[in-house]
Amino acid sequence: MTQQKGLIDVHTHLDKLDLASESALAEAEKLGVTELITIGTEPSDHSVVLDLAQKYYPRVFCSLGVHPHAAVEWRREVGERIREWAKNPWVVAIGETGLDYFYQNSAPDQQRRAFEEQLELARSLGLPVQVHMRDAEADTLAILKNFGSQVTGIIHCFSGSDVFADAVLELGWYLSISGIVTFKNAQKLREQVARFPIDRLTVETDAPYLTPVPYRGKKNMPAYTHFVAAEIARVKNVSLEEVVGVTRSNTLKMFFRLLPALEN
Ligand SMILES: [Zn+2]
Ligand SMILES: [Zn+2]
Repeated sequence: MTQQKGLIDVHTHLDKLDLASESALAEAEKLGVTELITIGTEPSDHSVVLDLAQKYYPRVFCSLGVHPHAAVEWRREVGERIREWAKNPWVVAIGETGLDYFYQNSAPDQQRRAFEEQLELARSLGLPVQVHMRDAEADTLAILKNFGSQVTGIIHCFSGSDVFADAVLELGWYLSISGIVTFKNAQKLREQVARFPIDRLTVETDAPYLTPVPYRGKKNMPAYTHFVAAEIARVKNVSLEEVVGVTRSNTLKMFFRLLPALEN
């Protein structure tokens, strides 16, 4: 008999929380969040993230990549290390990678090169990708289109235009909804979520960032995926159980390495 399974926080930074991982997982369980994917953002956090996934597998999985802020640290050797690590079943995706022209912590051309090479890595490994995109819709879309249907994944913390959303959905990507959907000023995102197909949505916290209502001002944690799911249920006028069940099955489809681990 498998334990009852609930929400999956598909994008969180377990290594950056204030509280110990053990406590974060216990708090998550209390609010029905039973698994999560913790995210690597730069070469220096990869071994920490890997250790967490190995230790808590199959409650915790990980994704490894280089964030656009750290694109200057991307090297082919980093990709080769990730390729080796990806032999472990707890490594389920590549990223986060992508483009962030809001904070240009790395130059746009460096960001584009790092992004393309990580997409290429994902294609060769057959793994999905966790994409971070801010103020870079045209370039992100152009790059994703070059890969066609050979690489897909999620646009994490989605908050973009209708045109961008429709284009990435068309390419087979999923949209991952974060605590932003609960923010007072996020009416546009709520309207989008109301019309997005529920079978293409995943839920996440991006903890410790982007804490949802009702805990604005406090540090975020994976447990609060619950409030993201509850808001999606409210906006789409469906039950919370439906959001839990559908986002879970979407997650298992996209991050296909979770399924065999959870069936055992
Ligand atoms: Zn991000
Ligand atoms: Zn993140």
